[in-house]
Amino acid sequence: MVIKVKALVLENGEVFLKDVPTPTPQEEEVLIRVSLGGICSTDLEMVKGYVPFTGVMGHEFVGRVEIDPQGEFTGTRVVGEINIGCGSCSFCQAGLKNHCQKREVVGIRQRQGVFAEYVALPRENIYPVPVESPDEEAVFVEPLAAALQVLEQVHIPPSHRVVVLGDGRLGLLVAMVLAEAGLESIILGHHKEKMDIVKPLGVTGVVAEEFSEKVDLVVECTGSSAGFQKAQQILHPRGTIVLKTTVAGKASVDLASLVTGEITVVGSRCGPFLPALNLLKRGKLPLSKMVDKVFTLSQGKEALEYASRKGVKKVLLDMEC
Ligand SMILES: [Zn+2]
Ligand SMILES: [Zn+2]
Repeated sequence: MVIKVKALVLENGEVFLKDVPTPTPQEEEVLIRVSLGGICSTDLEMVKGYVPFTGVMGHEFVGRVEIDPQGEFTGTRVVGEINIGCGSCSFCQAGLKNHCQKREVVGIRQRQGVFAEYVALPRENIYPVPVESPDEEAVFVEPLAAALQVLEQVHIPPSHRVVVLGDGRLGLLVAMVLAEAGLESIILGHHKEKMDIVKPLGVTGVVAEEFSEKVDLVVECTGSSAGFQKAQQILHPRGTIVLKTTVAGKASVDLASLVTGEITVVGSRCGPFLPALNLLKRGKLPLSKMVDKVFTLSQGKEALEYASRKGVKKVLLDMEC
């Protein structure tokens, strides 16, 4: 057993590679050898100070269980849910551990992340990956689940006009999920080559500034606090804005127009893994087209820098080399 493992850590706003102790799985936990990690906008916002966090970064991953004290998952390729509830509060009891006030969140809140050779996770957080899905696609399950959360929270009649605002990582995934659900949507962005990824699914790409029609629902995925204003501009009265962006900043909001327009604002975060795994298994989503570059764990700092460049979609970290 390795005593120390390589990890990408965040300490006082600084990102660097560090040797950390191999996580020791607690009762009801398994030890996972991480294969691939995905860099998400939340990681980039955390470096800017979105939440105070010290420790191993990263929450999107695919890996193989090396130690399961109960044996069930040993050797199984898995992905994992990132929220770990206290188990005893009213939210946890109601199956809403994502809202537990004492929850730990992998690589985000009081819990070591996955940008490391090994990570320990509760057994109840892990899900086997379909054999037919390559690691490069399986690593998208967590953000795909987050995209699916939109459908969990909002009922969208097929007649409704839907806009996905932003052609970044999450915007493209939301567009894919809406298309898979049989809903027609328009994606507003600035990068034709990115919007073209979802075109075969029937999603129309339009340059954001050129779009002035009114729609029923906007899923805000710009990663910028200015997105809210744009969403308001293109929304019908009685429309809905779903906010998927966690930005390390504050937006000024025209509250009066929300009231007069009777606009519904929905905050939307993590989502369900099982439907995301089902989508993955069907193999219809152009997920691997979203990968711009794969870095090694040792190049982690460079990878984060690359992921923050304009126009970059998904950057992966290979922990095994
Ligand atoms: Zn994420
Ligand atoms: Zn709880």
